[in-house]
Order: sequence, then C-alpha cells, then structure tokens
Amino acid sequence: MSTYRIAVLPGDGIGQEVVAEAVRVLRAVGKAAGASFEFEEALVGGGAIDATGQPLPAPTLALCRSSHAILFGSVGGPKWDHLPQEQRAERGLLALRKELDLYANLRPATCFPMLVDASPLKRSVVEGTDIMVIRELTGGLYFGEPRGRAPLAGGGERGVNTMVYTTPEIERVARVGFEVARKRKKRLTSVDKANVLTVSQLWREVVTKIGKEYPDVTLDHVLVDNCAMALVQKPTQFDTIVTENTFGDILSDEAAILAGSMGMLPSASLGVAGAGGVPVGLYEPVHGTAPDIAGKGIANPIAAILSAAMLLRYSLSMGREADRVEAAVRRVLEQGHRTRDIAAAGERIVGTKDMGELIVRDVERG
Ligand code: NAD
Repeated sequence: MSTYRIAVLPGDGIGQEVVAEAVRVLRAVGKAAGASFEFEEALVGGGAIDATGQPLPAPTLALCRSSHAILFGSVGGPKWDHLPQEQRAERGLLALRKELDLYANLRPATCFPMLVDASPLKRSVVEGTDIMVIRELTGGLYFGEPRGRAPLAGGGERGVNTMVYTTPEIERVARVGFEVARKRKKRLTSVDKANVLTVSQLWREVVTKIGKEYPDVTLDHVLVDNCAMALVQKPTQFDTIVTENTFGDILSDEAAILAGSMGMLPSASLGVAGAGGVPVGLYEPVHGTAPDIAGKGIANPIAAILSAAMLLRYSLSMGREADRVEAAVRRVLEQGHRTRDIAAAGERIVGTKDMGELIVRDVERG
C-alpha cells in the first residue's frame, strides 16, 4: 500500500471549515483506492501569529518540505490587519511560495452545466468551458530588477519595473504546461506579447523548442490581447493555457469569473523541493478567509475539495481518484444540493458539513 504524507494547513476563518471537509473526502478516496494518507496539521497565518508570533513558523515549513503535498486553506483577517506588512498573516502564504519555489500556478476555470446561469456570460457562450490556466509565479514583472522610483531633474518621478525571464525559467513552466495538457485534451496555448516585447520573443522560442519533446500535444501561440478577448467571446476554444506572471494574473481572474462563484475555484502551485527531492505542490481554494461568513458553517467547501482532487492528480499521480472526486462533486450538484453562494432563488440550501458529507458519501459509493 502506498503511503503519502500530506501537510494540512487550514489557516484562518473559513479555511478551517473547508479544509476539514477536503480532508474527509481525501480519507474516503484513499480508503477506496487502498492508499494510505498520513495527515499532519500545522499552523500558518493569523493563528500561527497568535501562537508563535510568526505567520510561517519553522516547524510548519519543515513539515511542508518533508511532505508529498500541502493542503492549504486561507489566511488573514481583520484581527491581524493592523500588523506591519512583513508580519501580516498573508505573509505566511507568500513565504511558503518563496521557500518552496512554487513557480507554476494552476487555475482551472470549469463551467459546471448546472451552474451555468451563475456565470455573467450568456449560456450559449460559456456552456462547456473547461480551461486550465498555468501562470508562471516567481519571475517576470513582479520580481524583475531594476525596479523602483527616482526623482526627475525637471520635477516628477520615474517609475520602473522590469519584465525579465531566463531560458531555464521558461523551460520549466513550459514543461508543466505540456505535462498538464497531456493529462487533458492535449492542446496547449502559449500566451505572450511577442509582436512588441523582446522577453516574449524569447518566451515563444523556448516554448516552441520544449514543444518538440511533446509531439502528442498541439501547441499554438496567442497574443495576450487576443486571448483576453477570445476568453469572453469563445472560451470553449481553449484547453490548457501557459503564460508569464502578469498576463497569467489577469487572464486567470478573467477565466475564473466564467465559473460563477468564488466558492467553486480550486488551485495548485507546483514547485521544486519536496520529500526526497520530489516536486512539491501546494493546493488551495482561490478564495480568502471570508470573515463575513466565518464560523457560521455556511461556506462552500467545493473549492477546497476540488483542490484536493488536484492534489491527487498532480502530486500523487492518482488521476482516477481525482476523477472520482470531481465526478462526486458534479453528481451532488446535479442532485440539486447547493451552498448559499451558488443557490438560485427557491433552491434548497445545505451547510459546509452537509455538502462535505454528501460528497464523501458519493465518493464511497464510487
Ligand atoms: P474572500 O475570498 O475571503 O471573500 C470574498 C467574498 O466571497 C465574501 O463575500 C465571502 O463571503 C465570499 N466567499 C469566499 N469564499 C467563499 C466560500 N467558500 N463560500 C461562500 N462564500 C465565499 O476575499 P476578501 O474578503 O477580499 O478577503 C478576506 C481575507 O482573506 C483578507 O484578510 C484577505 O487578505 C484574505 N485572503 C487570503 C487569501 C489566501 O489565503 N490565499 C486569498 C484572498 C484573500
């Protein structure tokens, strides 16, 4: 029996509530598949600040480094908002991304047929949308040097950021793009601005070169402005998208609104150093700690549960079990069960635990 060590970092607010349900689903699917999961919980974010003074205590980081995967909730809240930037709860997540060199961020945007009316786009446009956006997370404009502000001799200032990528940085995220596309419909779209930016010309050349290693995946290149338009005009034309940090930041949010609610959006961040040098992955819902509903038992756990499905697929290579979880979510929604955030007028509403329980029971039935 394979044994996998999973670090569980629920964090603050509804992170605690939704991660508990995701763990229950993982236990159920592990049991059904004959895999053994060892869950170890650790402090991060505001709760960690209260207990230790640090948003990412050393034992938490050590646990993450020695685990096969990390299941993360969310961090932050009004209680810690007054702290200086470096000591804020959100630093816990940023520090983890940095320490583990989590360079590829995967965000699916799936339009569930039964929730199609929650999308701001027309049914005819959005129906059938199933996109994975892969965003480079550690390079580009947000980290490039030089950057800063300097006074101008004649008055005013000059502000600078630098979009910079090296060949190895592009190669590694391109490989993630091709590997993910291989597990989906084998179509990869690389997004850049190669008609204007030199850094994008390098991006395009390197992605094309890596593409030769993946003859079974069809690669095309799209300019970022065209991609932004096409996402709202005909999102079904996309399967897997890979792009640099800034473009990915914007496009993944744009793609996310196609799916309707925050409570439905999972994510994965893949990095370099995990247990025994195995690539490590951090899996988390896109949403935050939702202080307005925290503690009420009404948060939607589906984003966290779908993040657990991504954990199975991308860190543990348990694609069949990931499919099983995703199918269970779909069936429970088809049966008409809704948390408050995705309920239309007149629909029956269930709480966080009940939604978790319904999905666990469906997974158990297989
Ligand atoms: P949020 O995502 O927490 O909430 C935005 C809105 O969506 C709220 O109305 C909330 O009730 C609703 N919502 C979010 N998740 C939901 C779910 N699962 N089910 C039902 N409704 C849900 O964003 P915010 O209010 O801007 O941020 C609150 C706190 O979370 C802040 O401290 C912020 O810094 C933090 N935050 C953390 C992360 C993270 O840990 N990755 C991400 C975003 C925000």
